[in-house]
Amino acid sequence: MQQISQQVKSRGKLLYHTLRAFSTSNSEGAQVQKTDVLIVGGGIAGASLACALSQSEYFQSTSSGLKRIVMLDHTKLPSISDYATHQRTPEPRVITLTPNSLRFLSSIGGLQLCNATCVTPFKEMLVYEEIGHGFMRFDIDRQRSESRLIKAQEEVLKRFVFDEEHKRAFEATQVSMGASVENNHLLAALINRAKTLDKCDIIQKKVVAVKRATEASGRPRVILDDGSIIEADLIVGSDGEKSKTREEYGIQATGYSYEQSGLVCTVSSLSRSNTIAYQRFLKSGPLALLPLWDNYSSIVWSCPPEMCKELQDLSDTVFIDTLNKALQKTPEQAFGGFNLLPKSMRMAPMEHPPILDKVHTKRFAFPLILQHSNSYAGNRMALIGDAAHRIHPMAGQGLNLGITDVAYLANSIVKAKKSGLDIGNYDLVLKDYETKAKANAYSMISAIEVVRNSYQGKLAGSETAGNILSLFRNLAIDTIQMSELAKYNFMNFASGNLTHPVSYEWEHSN
Ligand SMILES: Cc1cc2nc3c(=O)[nH]c(=O)nc-3n(C[C@H](O)[C@H](O)[C@H](O)COP(=O)(O)OP(=O)(O)OC[C@H]3O[C@@H](n4cnc5c(N)ncnc54)[C@H](O)[C@@H]3O)c2cc1C
Repeated sequence: MQQISQQVKSRGKLLYHTLRAFSTSNSEGAQVQKTDVLIVGGGIAGASLACALSQSEYFQSTSSGLKRIVMLDHTKLPSISDYATHQRTPEPRVITLTPNSLRFLSSIGGLQLCNATCVTPFKEMLVYEEIGHGFMRFDIDRQRSESRLIKAQEEVLKRFVFDEEHKRAFEATQVSMGASVENNHLLAALINRAKTLDKCDIIQKKVVAVKRATEASGRPRVILDDGSIIEADLIVGSDGEKSKTREEYGIQATGYSYEQSGLVCTVSSLSRSNTIAYQRFLKSGPLALLPLWDNYSSIVWSCPPEMCKELQDLSDTVFIDTLNKALQKTPEQAFGGFNLLPKSMRMAPMEHPPILDKVHTKRFAFPLILQHSNSYAGNRMALIGDAAHRIHPMAGQGLNLGITDVAYLANSIVKAKKSGLDIGNYDLVLKDYETKAKANAYSMISAIEVVRNSYQGKLAGSETAGNILSLFRNLAIDTIQMSELAKYNFMNFASGNLTHPVSYEWEHSN
């Protein structure tokens, strides 16, 4: 009986794929091509999804029409051959990846295609500020080897909480604190990987309209700038903060402008040792200095738009001077340096970042906004990456959230394929993705907003209230700095160890 139903099922599948192979025409006469998963937007989120799905065995093409995964982007996507050497100046747009994002990118075979010399792991992270002496130094190797409390916590987790898979995932995330890589370098590696896996058509065209599932076909469609139409079982909007997919599905996004811009560029230092990531909370906003290869670093300077414009207009020499001052200058002390911590408990002053000597690229600026989509999925539609959420770059988490979305969505799709479910079904497939990805985004957005607000120079418009806040913040920072266990768990949260999927469905065959 089971055999007969299996045969009927596979004949049904064969008939479906044979019909699917033939394109149909719509009422206006334009050809309608068909695919299973249509990814709108080939940024890192979209390209990662294309690779993750291509890793599974369920998207082999069965026809001469479109492949079963299609990715659309109207821009010219970068080529990996441009990144073959490190004898070049690093590009200014750099992203920091958490240990879990690195684990995910390895699992889909994208990270291995990057030029390893240009992927820079962080050994340490140092967070300090302009008002107050407080700082936090994170060094996962030292913390793990020296703290008995951390050892005890790990022992309990390994014995009583983690299964074998969880143990492996956990260990894979303890080798570094993350890494930095140029945005387009990683994107080029992912595009190359998707092409090698050969299950995805990458088409350079613009989506001009998205039509929700029609009654006639039961499938959503996109219309491209050349008038062609593609219909899919599932449309994924990975088309960035101004997502056309989100808009055409009528999904509202809430948020606000930070009234800040993020200035990025590549600089170099006189020092050869370049493995520490720095973040200084200035009164005007956070300034990050991220290590790249050799003695290059990338900066992300968040500040009010007028100040950003002024920084862009400075000559290179004056800019480097201004940057060095912002990173090096002695912290201001509120209330004459009054410290809530007893003298005996105070820490030795921190080491400052290396002196920077040169700026190597143009200075680019990006407006900074918080934007959160009310839904991440609907009938035959899902949103990932910046199309679902856009956050402050302060903690370097924006794309990491997007990568966790991709891991959850790809898991849901591959799982559905394994069980013979319709991948576009919201209740059975996409709701699970939405619940997990939203919970992850909410926890990260809340944490970032709490930290960001605690660093405001003024509180409720008052500088004195801001100074009082700084006293308590510095006390809290000193206390955290003294506790290796607290820092270790803070890092585990930021690494995604509590929220990123432990296992990936494409790594397990049926
Ligand atoms: C200054 C700054 C620093 C940052 N630093 C970090 C960091 O250190 N770490 C981190 O994790 N994140 C960081 N981020 C955030 C990160 O850059 C973004 O979250 C990430 O780039 C979003 O990727 P995405 O693929 O979702 O969207 P995008 O990169 O925006 O890709 C969307 C793609 O869709 C295409 N597209 C759009 N509309 C259409 C259409 N109609 N038809 C066809 N194609 C279309 C676009 O061409 C584009 O290629 C930073 C952001 C800023 C502003």
